[in-house]
Amino acid sequence: MVARVTLEIALRREFDYAIPPELAGQVEVGTRVKVPFGHRQVMGCVTALTELSTHTNLRHIAGVVGKQSLVTPRVLQLARWIADYYCCAPETALKSVLPEVVRREQDGWRERLFVRLIPATGESPKLTKRQQEILSLLEERREMPLQELLELAETTAETVRRLEDKHLVLITNQVSERDPYAKDVISRTESLTMNAEQAVALAAICKRMDCGAGEKVGKRESETASERPLPPAHSPTFSPATFLLHGVTGSGKTEVYLQAIAHALAQGKGAIVLVPEIALTPQTVERFKARFSHGALQTQVAVLHSHLSSGERHDEWHKIRQGRARIVIGARSAIFAPVEPLGLIIVDEEHEHSYKQEEAPRYHARDVAVVRGQIDSAVVVLGSATPSMESFFNVQRGKYALLELKLRADDKKMPIVRVVDMRQAARKEKGTPIFSEELKEAITKRLERREQTMLFLNRRGYSSSLQCPQCGFVAECPNCSVALTYHRKAQKICCHICGHEAPAPTACPEPKCRSAAIRYAGLGTERVEETLTKLFPHARIARMDSDLMKRKEDYRRVLGDFKAGKTDILVGTQMIAKGLHFENVTLVGVIHADLSLHIPDFRAGERTFQLLTQVSGRAGRGEVEGEVFVQSFTPFHPAIQYARRHDFIGFYEQEIEFREQLNYPPASRLAMLTFKGRNEEKVKLMAEHVTRELEALASGKTVPASESASVREMELLPDASSPHTLTPSHSHTPALRDLVLSGPAPAPLLRAETFYRYQLMLRTKQMPRVSKVLATLLEQIELPEDVTLTVDIDPVSLM
Ligand code: ADP
Ligand code: ZN
Ligand code: ZN
Repeated sequence: MVARVTLEIALRREFDYAIPPELAGQVEVGTRVKVPFGHRQVMGCVTALTELSTHTNLRHIAGVVGKQSLVTPRVLQLARWIADYYCCAPETALKSVLPEVVRREQDGWRERLFVRLIPATGESPKLTKRQQEILSLLEERREMPLQELLELAETTAETVRRLEDKHLVLITNQVSERDPYAKDVISRTESLTMNAEQAVALAAICKRMDCGAGEKVGKRESETASERPLPPAHSPTFSPATFLLHGVTGSGKTEVYLQAIAHALAQGKGAIVLVPEIALTPQTVERFKARFSHGALQTQVAVLHSHLSSGERHDEWHKIRQGRARIVIGARSAIFAPVEPLGLIIVDEEHEHSYKQEEAPRYHARDVAVVRGQIDSAVVVLGSATPSMESFFNVQRGKYALLELKLRADDKKMPIVRVVDMRQAARKEKGTPIFSEELKEAITKRLERREQTMLFLNRRGYSSSLQCPQCGFVAECPNCSVALTYHRKAQKICCHICGHEAPAPTACPEPKCRSAAIRYAGLGTERVEETLTKLFPHARIARMDSDLMKRKEDYRRVLGDFKAGKTDILVGTQMIAKGLHFENVTLVGVIHADLSLHIPDFRAGERTFQLLTQVSGRAGRGEVEGEVFVQSFTPFHPAIQYARRHDFIGFYEQEIEFREQLNYPPASRLAMLTFKGRNEEKVKLMAEHVTRELEALASGKTVPASESASVREMELLPDASSPHTLTPSHSHTPALRDLVLSGPAPAPLLRAETFYRYQLMLRTKQMPRVSKVLATLLEQIELPEDVTLTVDIDPVSLM
């Protein structure tokens, strides 16, 4: 038998190794192995098993690592798809599907000593009072951790050991799980009676689960990943197993998720629920635990997110792998959780950009979810109040099925949204006020009625720039091409890109000027808070942004106080825009809605629409109707007007026209190549060179030099004769007629963290083919040491 192995060192190749007789039966797909490579031994993962290899003189696998194979064949298949589509090395993709702590096995299970009572036989020996006490404590519980017993009985381990000598108790080493939510007391909830819209949505999802999602592409379990051709994403022969659940904020999407999960469980299948990291609050987790995780089912819900300790992450992951946890809630990477069999995947707030990983592999968890749904024959539900253009486009083309919840679940009205024209406000007063008269009045009313207000501004700090009116000097970051933000409390000017900080100057730093009249222009949350304190001296005000929320306790505390009514007004950045649910908030104010409209990105309008809709969804979730004030200098912008009317379809229809005209997603797909280096001229030259190479490759004129690539490979290895290159060489690339190259051009943010950046944008309707061409290019291209090139397929940010 031959095993195909991906090595954990960075090579874009797989290698064949023979399985020696002594390891026969121990090596399967997903097994971690030690293999000889050159003069060393390296770690790898078996990705396929075959009878024969096209190579001779195979070297032997040196050893197997770990008992249970960590990656299931299906997850492995997903990793392969990621490597191909997102154009990264297989081992990079493989690393991302296994948490570091599981792969390295540094933090194993935590073992603890437990004391158990042995049922007494015959005559009981003579005991001291202390010993009697210990026994009666144990009689109550039968078994408990030694440490706890010692604390309760106020005794030493020595005393308990003596009881063990008398064969009255047994001390054993047992695994004790680290449960991040162990201290939470969660009371159980039952299913709600659904309203008509919810019932229709749930029925459609359940019906799809019953008739076997993805039947056409799912195949027999026994086949190995390499034998099974991957279904092309969104295969046209597929009837849809992916749903887009478009439900306004408060329409009860979560209840639909919960009951769909219950249906999956009843079928003996598990579920994965993805939520954006920022929305993975205790509130969210509690809603799922309260329904599914109690009594004997304590371990049924596992949670995976970045705030877990590595030990907790280890335990949660293995709980899933062992099948004791059937429901996984987590951020982006939870899409790789080893739930098997998997019946349902939910991606809540599917439009969120945080689902995109901004380092290699640059995958988008929502899109990976759809592919995983196909591989695992699971139903996928993408939920949002403001679906992405991409997902709604897929609905229109029949790839996803649309489910709609148009009303709030409890018949509460959507809030009234008022757009305030700040140009008029600016005309009335000298300079631009932070608060319009309308918003000030509305806040006053809420304070009188003891209702709560949320104010939103998407920029932290005090003011966005520091300018000298005398000479025009603007304080810029020495490392990035951006102005520094003034933070008043800290008396610092800071860069929000690289973190550079300097003391705030009191006079213009230009040697010839030194004017003391320097001005701070623009707004940040810190300034909003300060102004608010002056306007409403008796109000209880709190601020929430990443300057203040360094630890998760801060986040919990501020939200806890707000929920408990200890705060009247909460000021914050996008942190407060998402998923939070407070009954007593009846007013939401957006201080400067134009901020996100003017970023140099074709998605600026879409983002603004989403942000405004999400923010206004925070108002009026309780008994009293909500009101939203949107302050803007471009009040008639479509993103603002459609958000005012809660009209997603209207927004989509005018936006898709613009995307189609300019050939932007979803009308086409994007890949962004970014060149980075400290020497601008070199970066530019390299970008131009690569552009020419790519043009040649795409025209089909040059045959990709797979030969030369393997020659380079061999030079790299001192002992090149045995590990064999397996990836089929790209023998011929047909011309890519619809590929459009734009650039190279300086990135909107030309310089970041001392690096100059140039970009080349690719637009195509056939991304999988373009990914292949890019992979070839990456193999061939020789970059100078001080220039790097990253490839981002389907980027979500063009900065
Ligand atoms: P969404 O996720 O769509 O924003 P939620 O699931 O948070 O909405 O639901 C909003 C509120 O409505 C919650 O308090 C939820 O408990 C309640 N709710 C949902 N469905 C029902 C229902 N069928 N009957 C009564 N209340 C419901
Ligand atoms: Zn000056
Ligand atoms: Zn900087």
